[in-house]
Amino acid sequence: SNSVSDDYSVQRTNDDATQCKFFAIQKGYWKDEFISRFANSSANVAEARRFPEISMGYWARTAAIEKYVREFLTEFNGKAQVISFGCGFDTLFWRLVSSGSNLVKYVEVDFSSVTSKKIRHILKPVGSGSIDLKKSFESEAVVSHHSDLHAGNYHLVGADLRQSNELDQKLETCQLDYDIPTIFIAECVLVYMSANASSSLLKQIVSKFRQPAFVNYEQFRTSDAFTKVMEQNLGERGIQLHGLEMCESSEKQEERFRNAGFKTIKVMDMNQIFNNFLDQNEVGRIRTIEMLDEMELLEQLLTHYCVVFARI
Ligand code: SAM
Repeated sequence: SNSVSDDYSVQRTNDDATQCKFFAIQKGYWKDEFISRFANSSANVAEARRFPEISMGYWARTAAIEKYVREFLTEFNGKAQVISFGCGFDTLFWRLVSSGSNLVKYVEVDFSSVTSKKIRHILKPVGSGSIDLKKSFESEAVVSHHSDLHAGNYHLVGADLRQSNELDQKLETCQLDYDIPTIFIAECVLVYMSANASSSLLKQIVSKFRQPAFVNYEQFRTSDAFTKVMEQNLGERGIQLHGLEMCESSEKQEERFRNAGFKTIKVMDMNQIFNNFLDQNEVGRIRTIEMLDEMELLEQLLTHYCVVFARI
């Protein structure tokens, strides 16, 4: 029953996320001068969805994760590491470094097929008007096996997060310090793994890192009807996903982080994130970019997504 879809379709969800973010950024929801290096040449992407609700949702998820990561780095004066699971073409490393954030390591992990594409985008010639991503590296990028890139404090490695040995080995190549505070990011990633696989991953982290924190964003509280609509929408864009296992409630989210050994766990749905967590001036600005026909539609959508922040 829990055969979670084929890996190829899961990898393609990254193209979709990248195009949706690119679209929202062009509309002015937030600034990201780096994403065009990844978005322009994403192949085979059906038209990004253009509903304002979608762009507002992408803005909120990006802003919430960035806020948690920045607060964590500030708390430890930059003596901390960031590890992004299922990073896709995310640009947070570049956004942090270009704004002067200090950090010890930034490690990104995804399937090799995704990381090798990301590496090609990072290293491709810089056209006029576009930004050189290599400029943010502390030292020259060294690529191995086409899928791994090491450049000073930045590392991008290919591994299947369900394969604990493979993941362990790849993390070993990044010269991490397992004793210092380390924040993990999973932005729309755990939902594509079986419940067993994501639980093992969380346990693996807690047994390996002495001071881990975790920020997880994903769909939850789903009904069969919601899951069907989601699978259908992806299907229209050529992404075949079936049998996704989602957490049905805040309690379930809390439970799996607690079972893995996390002690302080906060779960907020995206309405709470909008109303109580994000900068209200920004929220006000976001609401005026495009007119919504119905506020209710946005609120309904946002109840199905959550951010979990967990600490030891
Ligand atoms: N985190 C990025 C973002 O939000 O823009 C990408 C999100 S995309 C919806 C999901 C990503 O998780 C894809 O890049 C996919 O390849 C990755 N992923 C899912 N399951 C994975 C696994 N078992 N091992 C490695 N990566 C995985």
